Amino acid sequence: ANDPRPLVAGNWKMNGLRGSISELEAIIADAQARPWPVDLMICPPATLVCAFAKAAAGAKIAIGAQDCHAEVSGAFTGDISAEMLKDAGASAVIVGHSERRTYHGETDDMVKAKAKAANRAGLTAIVCIGETYEEREAGATISRIERQLAGSLPETIDAVKLVIAYEPVWAIGTGLTPTPKDVEQVHQTIRKHLVSLDKSSGPTVRILYGGSVKPSNAKELMAVPNVNGALVGGASLTAKDFLGIAAAY
Ligand code: PEP
Repeated sequence: ANDPRPLVAGNWKMNGLRGSISELEAIIADAQARPWPVDLMICPPATLVCAFAKAAAGAKIAIGAQDCHAEVSGAFTGDISAEMLKDAGASAVIVGHSERRTYHGETDDMVKAKAKAANRAGLTAIVCIGETYEEREAGATISRIERQLAGSLPETIDAVKLVIAYEPVWAIGTGLTPTPKDVEQVHQTIRKHLVSLDKSSGPTVRILYGGSVKPSNAKELMAVPNVNGALVGGASLTAKDFLGIAAAY
């Protein structure tokens, strides 16, 4: 009963053109038509944040971004600061997604700086962590998760400004998912870490599961203790699948 209100967030990655706003509009129409027992969020590419935030104004769906730079402004060609995302209408930003860690060499230190920048700008930081296939095979999942938590989170945490997304790297975009038991073990580890950082906010920070979530497996995964929602990639691109996942609640 004291569980935090779940969050189902869609990560569109590098997908979506202006015309894709029709999917957002379909989600908004549904979100307005009935009371959802979950918070909804779509994280489109940066080019669409402004238009999506405008379309979602007053609706029961938040708009997030997928990455930010740690600095407020400056000579960082091609980068976008958390303050700029806030100005564009975002209320949250994903940081440390495994694709950023892998393709852009983002370290725990960099992710932590980005999470702090998000909070500085008034955005919720959705901090992603997760083990690789090799780490899972080697029995190193829990130690990897603990190391990422120790290195990637801001020193002060707060349930409004922080969301954790557990995304096993090997489950992202592969159709593979860990067993509910494996998910439970990791989420319990994350919860313990959060409570050790802050006794009062730790229990209510939302911990999302991400990695090949779809309408057909959402119910089983969302029922796992300490799973407080989902971060959804591929299946968030259509209103039908995204809402099908939110309907797990
Ligand atoms: C993601 O990249 O955040 C993700 C969970 O992707 P997918 O749902 O496509 O596995």
